[in-house]
Amino acid sequence: MSPTGFSACFMCVRVVKNKMHSLWIALSYTIPTILFIVGAMRLKSPKSARTGMWWIAIGMIIAVGATMALHPNIPWAPTVAVMGVGAGLGILVAKRVKMTAMPQMVAIFNGMGGGAAALVALATLQRSVPLSVFANLIATITLVIGSVSFTGSTIAFLKLQEWLRGPRLGRTVGSAITGCGLLAILVMGFLNIVGRQAPGLGAWIMIVAALEGVMLVLPIGGADMPVVISMLNALTGLAAAATGFLISNNVLIVAGALVGASGTILTQQMSRAMNRSIANILFGSFTQTSGGLGTPGEDGGVMIEASHEDVAMLLMYSRSVIVVPGFGLAASRAQQEVRQLMEKLLAHQVGVRFAIHPVAGRMPGHMNVLLAEANIPYDRLFEMDAINQEFKDADVALVIGANDVTNPAAKNEPTSPLFGMPVLNVDQAKKVIVLKRGKNPGFAGVENPLYTRQNTSMLFGDAKDSLAKLIQAIE
Ligand code: NAP
Repeated sequence: MSPTGFSACFMCVRVVKNKMHSLWIALSYTIPTILFIVGAMRLKSPKSARTGMWWIAIGMIIAVGATMALHPNIPWAPTVAVMGVGAGLGILVAKRVKMTAMPQMVAIFNGMGGGAAALVALATLQRSVPLSVFANLIATITLVIGSVSFTGSTIAFLKLQEWLRGPRLGRTVGSAITGCGLLAILVMGFLNIVGRQAPGLGAWIMIVAALEGVMLVLPIGGADMPVVISMLNALTGLAAAATGFLISNNVLIVAGALVGASGTILTQQMSRAMNRSIANILFGSFTQTSGGLGTPGEDGGVMIEASHEDVAMLLMYSRSVIVVPGFGLAASRAQQEVRQLMEKLLAHQVGVRFAIHPVAGRMPGHMNVLLAEANIPYDRLFEMDAINQEFKDADVALVIGANDVTNPAAKNEPTSPLFGMPVLNVDQAKKVIVLKRGKNPGFAGVENPLYTRQNTSMLFGDAKDSLAKLIQAIE
């Protein structure tokens, strides 16, 4: 072969090789993207959610593997070792966590994502290669969002775990500090972008943004924390998507956008269910966490106590019972007992339905997951809007460890901090039975006038224990 023929052939091989390489990159990132989207769609129903998580996990493994394969300069041994430690810790924590502690687990995992995005942005800013103005802008935004998300989520974790109680800074002092921090970030961010990576500025932006995260979440009360976590989750998604742009990784852009969009929708849905705006949650005053607030009972303030035998008799002679589960059901892990009670009542031709409030428990879908765990059929579960009209025809509303989501003050007491939050019309049932341990208020720290109404009786005790005694009495 002539030298020209040989070099043409060589060029040909190189073009084919490059094309194959691009195809391989496209494929190795397209497959995880599809798996993420299909997996996320499967999370819509409890039936398919478990496999949905597997699809997403497999997508993530392929994405990580492909990234390692496509970047031979990544040192294998330390990367695999670090990933192994992280994955091992993740599995351990996820296996041990109680359903009631799920929000704080989400918070801390979310914080890790935000922190990782911030570190990638900082490393990008500190590279010796100058960045374009656009890349500089993206890196600065990622640095700010990731840092806020990291410290905000950490504070949320500490507060939910009850390892930290927010010092009550006056609103003006808090707002002044946050305002100064924001101004400092804007000035430093601007300098960083126009000055094209002034040395050390990135680290300062990171520190101030991290302080902003602390200041943002510290004054927020426990009842609002799930909404805050969801909002921080959306922020982390955005930071991850921006990181994807920085390091030209399409799969990170898609995964970040998915997290960002779903976190935003979830935040909106939760705040709508609580009838609060995001601004009100972040800067408002619905932060009471322990008793005292609210209205005294309309019927004289006296709670009527019932015995297990009375309640068992009442249930057996009812036609229609609506069970209202809440956080206390999750706390006492009484889902199996609830199913047994349902079966006993159904065997006596008593109709049993479950009314699910969108923010019952400590995270969206908390009650659905709990009841599904006990194999309670989905067709017995009714969302608030579907069942609220039915309470007036129900013989008994059996409230198990739910409080705020049943509080009638939210409907008719304009001075109540809960006023305006849509609640279940439990008070309209012919008889209301409330299972709770004592006279403590719910998560919002607001008294519940439902308990002192004439048609309400209290069955005090741990929900699991009370339900077991009820089943025994029915037998
Ligand atoms: P809740 O208002 O927190 O009331 C739970 C009740 O369960 C308490 O009154 C408690 O009273 C009782 N309880 C606790 N442990 C118990 C046990 N072992 N056995 C029996 N009873 C027990 O719960 P909720 O009605 O489900 O309302 C949820 C709250 O969380 C709302 O304020 C909501 O806004 C907030 N939130 C939820 C979400 C979400 O996504 N789900 C998001 C944001 C905010 P005792 O201590 O007297 O037993």
